Amino acid sequence: MPGPTYSAKELLDRLISFDTTSHKTNLPLIRFVEDYLAQHGLASSLTFNEERDKANLYATIGPQDIGGIGLSGHTDVVPVAGQNWDTDPFRMTERDGRIYGRGTTDMKGFLACVLAAVPMLQSRRLSKPVHILFSYDEEIGCTGVRPMIARLGNDLIKPEMVIVGEPTGMRVVTAHKGPVRWDVDVHGRAVHSSMAPLGVNAISYAGRLLGELAAIEEHLANTSRDTRFDPPYSTLQVTLIKGGTATNIVPVSCNFGFEVRALPGLHTNAIEQRVKDYASRLLAPMHAVAKEAGISIQQTNCVPPFAVDADSPVVSLALELAESNHTHAVSYATEAGLFQDAGTPSVVCGPGDIAQAHTANEWIEASELDRCMEFLGRLSDRLSA
Ligand SMILES: [Zn+2]
Repeated sequence: MPGPTYSAKELLDRLISFDTTSHKTNLPLIRFVEDYLAQHGLASSLTFNEERDKANLYATIGPQDIGGIGLSGHTDVVPVAGQNWDTDPFRMTERDGRIYGRGTTDMKGFLACVLAAVPMLQSRRLSKPVHILFSYDEEIGCTGVRPMIARLGNDLIKPEMVIVGEPTGMRVVTAHKGPVRWDVDVHGRAVHSSMAPLGVNAISYAGRLLGELAAIEEHLANTSRDTRFDPPYSTLQVTLIKGGTATNIVPVSCNFGFEVRALPGLHTNAIEQRVKDYASRLLAPMHAVAKEAGISIQQTNCVPPFAVDADSPVVSLALELAESNHTHAVSYATEAGLFQDAGTPSVVCGPGDIAQAHTANEWIEASELDRCMEFLGRLSDRLSA
């Protein structure tokens, strides 16, 4: 017996009602999707996090033994705390052609379209499968999808290509920058500021590191160039700093964070090595005063930059399905670079406008869902041809 059919809007209504803010469990939503797919005769493979309170979901429609087209999206949403909403963010509200609710644009709208397309895809004899890949913890650094990607090509069939449905207004995005972040901790020795030479001033040493970072920032601005992006080069910025305890104490510690927004092709490992080399040259004078002094540099997150070859089949397929001739580059990051780096060519293409993502009163045009359904309808036609 065929399972139930719902419109994308009806499914979006359900998906929004699960509060999947990144720090909360996404399991009720995943169980709902698993149950819905099971009603259509589809088995889901879940990949849990260590605490087993979140999971990725993978399912295949059509042939189960070859790689096909992956449709990928994240189930988590950003917090509503501190935002002024006119409606309940976890209840779908439609007004004047707009659908309001947390995640409507980023990116439960796409998930709802994919689920709404399941009965249509299931009714066809597909020459190649469609894989559903739903992740968690995208909004806190694309960390959740990684264990599922690690299974692709092992116990899960690796898609031939992936379409990541982050909001692009259904434009085909073939490149984005990647944010890579580090935390730097400088540990010195505190003394009364009248006895400064007996201490190791953590803020002063941090200042030298900041000087080196400024030099790298300038180097990046003057070397790499990719005019698809604005700004057209990789940037480095110090984003946080904290240090010292009182105006009459040589500070024992200084901690700061910096990030690189990397263009595709930039080797951020080389940047990290340059900063570490510079830090290691500071250690001798620090240790001459205090053996316990030190500098630690930890990468806290790495979302790789993304670029797919213009002649890759995933680009021509996505352009055909989007009925477009143009590809685009964007400044926000997605999971596409992770799929791409794992050997699966990817594009980003999904309903909604990124300008509404993460905002109070987040909304999506209802017509964007229709456009995404048309895109998936053409995919279904293409695979059954
Ligand atoms: Zn997103």
